[in-house]
Amino acid sequence: MKALLEVAGLSVWYGKAIALENVSLTVGEGEIVAVLGPNGAGKSTLLKAVSRMQPSQGTLALRGVSLQGFPAHEVVGKGICHCPEGRRLFPELSVLKNLMLGAYLRRDRAEVERDLEFVYALFPILRERAGQIVSTLSGGQQQMVAIGRALMGKPSLLLLDEPSVGIAHKLKMEIFDGIRKIRETGTAILMAEQDAQSAMRIADRVYVLEHGHVGREGTSAELSKDDYIRQAYLGVA
Ligand code: ATP
Repeated sequence: MKALLEVAGLSVWYGKAIALENVSLTVGEGEIVAVLGPNGAGKSTLLKAVSRMQPSQGTLALRGVSLQGFPAHEVVGKGICHCPEGRRLFPELSVLKNLMLGAYLRRDRAEVERDLEFVYALFPILRERAGQIVSTLSGGQQQMVAIGRALMGKPSLLLLDEPSVGIAHKLKMEIFDGIRKIRETGTAILMAEQDAQSAMRIADRVYVLEHGHVGREGTSAELSKDDYIRQAYLGVA
C-alpha cells in the first residue's frame, strides 16, 4: 500500500527526558491506524510531532514530502488536521462557529458547505445544537464538535487523540461509528486510544507504544490473537 504518512526514526525530547525514541510507522491512504499504550507512553507526543505542534527529529513525510521544517499552521494546509486531547474548543462560541473555525484557511465556500452537511449527517445532534454555546454540551457532544472542526479543515489525514476518553458508552459508540464513516470518504485516520478493544474493532492496523518505543505492531486481526496484547490491553486472561 502507498504510504500517506511515513514516520521513521522519530525522536522527541522534553528537555533532557526522551518521550519518543526511534519510532517508525506508516499510515496508508484511507487507512485507520490506532496507537495504543498506557498513560505516558508517548501517544499524544507522537500525534503532536506529526502535526508539528511538537518539534521532533527523524523522518516525517506526507505523500513523500517532508513536513520537518514546516510550522503547525502550514501543516493544516497540507492536509493534516489534529483533534487534540482535551478538545481545545472555544467554549463560549456556538457549535457552528467552532465548526467553521476549522475551515478558516479555506476559500472553497461551496465545498465548505458540503463538508458542514457531512459533519451534520455524521453527528446529527450538532445540527440540532448548531446555535448552542459549546460549554453547555455534554463531553461526548463536545468531542463530536472537536472531530467535526478537524474535518472542516478537509484533511487527508485526521489525527484523533483519545476520542473516547471520559465519554458515556452510547456516545462513544456513535463516535467510533462516525470514525468509520469518515474513513469511507477516503480520509485516513491516525488515532491514539486507551480503549484498545473499541479501537481494534475499527482499526486496520495497530501500533503499541510503550515507554516511547513501538513494542508491537500488526493488523487488528493479528494483534487480537497475540497473548501479550490480550492480557495487557484486552483484559483477556
Ligand atoms: P496520556 O494518555 O496520559 O496523555 P500519552 O501516551 O499520550 O499519555 P504523552 O502525553 O505523549 O503520553 O507523554 C509522554 C511522556 O512525555 C510522559 O512521560 C510525559 O510526562 C512527558 N511529557 C509530555 N508532555 C510534556 C511536556 N510538555 N513537558 C515535559 N514532559 C512532557
